[in-house]
Amino acid sequence: MILIQLTGLSGAGKTTLAQGAKVSLEKQGYAVEVIDGDVYRQRLWPELSFSPTDRQENIRRLSYLGGLFCKQGIIVFIAAINPYESVRTEVSSLYPFVRTVYVHCDLPTLLKRDTKGLYARALLPEGHPDKLLNLTGINAPYEPPTHPHLVLNTGLYTAEQCTYELVSYLFSTLPSDVKNVGTKEVS
Ligand code: ADP
Repeated sequence: MILIQLTGLSGAGKTTLAQGAKVSLEKQGYAVEVIDGDVYRQRLWPELSFSPTDRQENIRRLSYLGGLFCKQGIIVFIAAINPYESVRTEVSSLYPFVRTVYVHCDLPTLLKRDTKGLYARALLPEGHPDKLLNLTGINAPYEPPTHPHLVLNTGLYTAEQCTYELVSYLFSTLPSDVKNVGTKEVS
């Protein structure tokens, strides 16, 4: 089927939009799996750190899993920060059915949301025991995708609007032979 790698900073809305799209697609009869980077990482390989090498390894493993779901005819969203262009490109080149969606949000809005409290911790003074030292976008790099298939700006548009865009994009890119697979029969 198809694998969407959603990429963007923490709190940008990757999980929110993936879950919203899942609800919408399931109503139309499609099977959908959201691979939430936070959850999968914690459950499957908590020993991986947030070093550049381990972040890359995390994405490789998530995309391998995603590929397996895809081969079963499932639409897969990988909601992970996925900060490196090289790894995103690697994932795209491994599987023909990968699409890259950049979930963008401006930093002031992210700092205001800070739903997980991570930005507050990353911005603590040097030496503070609770300071996060590797938050992407603050003190760890984020490479915006150079050629994303779709950009969703959650700082400008509501979650509902962005979810609608995401689902619409999906329908425009689904191979025609699977487009009708999910359509529920109305009796
Ligand atoms: P991520 O998966 O990118 O870390 P989450 O989806 O977990 O981000 O969190 C995003 C938070 O921002 C949620 O609490 C969501 O309700 C909120 N939010 C506010 N506006 C938007 C928007 N336009 N799009 C997506 N999420 C939004």
